[in-house]
Amino acid sequence: MTSSFFDDVNCYFDAACQHTDVPDGILDQIRACNAVYRMRFPVRRDDGKVVVIRGFRAEHSHHRLPTKGGVRYSLDVSQNEVMALAALMTYKCAVVDVPFGGAKGGICIDPRTESVSFLERATRRYTSELIRKRFIGPDVDVPAPDVGTGEREMGWIADTYKAQGPDTLNWLACVTGKAVSMHGVEGRREATGLGAILALDLFLSTREDVNPLGLETGLAGKRLIISGLGKVGLHAARAAIERDAIVVGVSVSDGALYDEGGLDVESVLRHRADAGSFRGFPGTQFFAAPDAILEQPCDVLVPAALEHQITANNAPRLKAKIIVEAANGPVDPEANSILRNAGVAILPDIYANAGGVVVSYFEWIKNLSHVSFERMTRRYQQIAHERLLGVIARLTGKPLPPEDAAVLHQAPNEIDFVRTALDNTMTLSFEKIREPWKQRALPDLRTSAYLAAIESVANSYALDGIFP
Ligand code: NAD
Repeated sequence: MTSSFFDDVNCYFDAACQHTDVPDGILDQIRACNAVYRMRFPVRRDDGKVVVIRGFRAEHSHHRLPTKGGVRYSLDVSQNEVMALAALMTYKCAVVDVPFGGAKGGICIDPRTESVSFLERATRRYTSELIRKRFIGPDVDVPAPDVGTGEREMGWIADTYKAQGPDTLNWLACVTGKAVSMHGVEGRREATGLGAILALDLFLSTREDVNPLGLETGLAGKRLIISGLGKVGLHAARAAIERDAIVVGVSVSDGALYDEGGLDVESVLRHRADAGSFRGFPGTQFFAAPDAILEQPCDVLVPAALEHQITANNAPRLKAKIIVEAANGPVDPEANSILRNAGVAILPDIYANAGGVVVSYFEWIKNLSHVSFERMTRRYQQIAHERLLGVIARLTGKPLPPEDAAVLHQAPNEIDFVRTALDNTMTLSFEKIREPWKQRALPDLRTSAYLAAIESVANSYALDGIFP
């Protein structure tokens, strides 16, 4: 019998519980999904006909508020799926020290086959259902993009909240992943994919962890396969290529491409936009079944599509030495055991794809403070740098060489603050999960990440107490 996605998350959770002395009652509370709102609502199609849409919002943990998590548009959305994804959000936020509880939502539609006007009506109606039941708000529950949604949908959610929500001052903070022109934050679009590659880079920096896999340290020259070239996968590919890794395989829902010499991902995308498919891209191997890409030779596999991509059925045939879970739940527990026994290192989702929620946190802070990160400091920093240049010139009797002076003349923009803060968070969180993995001889990084999350959430229950 196949287990459900929520069961899988709990299976990982329970494995980590064996390494903690947090009391059982608290563990039960952390594991439970606190609240789920199931809804049905009518939406009018462009031809005037009405269809009934199924929607969900799960708030897994209220130990920190607001709760936070994406909104998914897919025909496969179910209560079990949003509960599992909400639980992963709780643990992810705890691992990267972002002060949110976990949530997730979705509606059962296929956004690829619906008109923009239908999608807008469905999004606004879904938002209004959430407002009615207090399942959205800057201090309550803050959605973000996930599979099938993006900046456009987040903009509609914010605008509907502005029109109908109770909070007129902080309405922009009711949702993250908005376009920068709508007070989103620079760097959110690429944050999840970039964060996954930063995680990989960190893992690859320690000889003690990397050499036993038969690999050398460093990202440069590593051969990556990225399964699911969507919002997350595309930016993971770009970040990897920028750091001199080689992307040898990519896939989307209707096909995959492989070239052991490396793919020019931007040309692949242009070809897909023109031809409507990867098929026919010159000099490469095309697979009509996208999952075939998972089994091709590579050093690192980055599943960035959906849950349960890697199961007991295909795990024994994977060639990768490292798996970076850019998607949520791509490896099920059975496959996880097979891969661990085969010596494959897995960077778990609750750490590897946390870049998105980290930068969403920065967007939420920006919206609540009503000022961009650099606005109050940029000019001041420039003046301070100019003064420093003057002091150096006075003391040394000569000006700095122009290339060095140019570096000091630069003052940070919002993107610089966001990128460095993301990098810092991924680095600190990696240390937080790597150290117990090594020191306490935990089975793998996933167990260590779950353990860190459990102890962090348990600590807030210990400090806050249990009401009443
Ligand atoms: P998306 O809708 O932008 O992209 C999903 C991609 O997967 C699409 O290109 C689709 O064609 C492809 N796909 C679907 N089925 C496939 C299959 N069987 N094989 C290969 N490709 C397939 O979604 P996204 O936002 O990039 O999310 C991808 C994953 O990352 C999800 O698991 C999501 O929960 C997770 N995630 C997303 C974010 C975020 O910020 N968007 C943050 C954390 C985690």
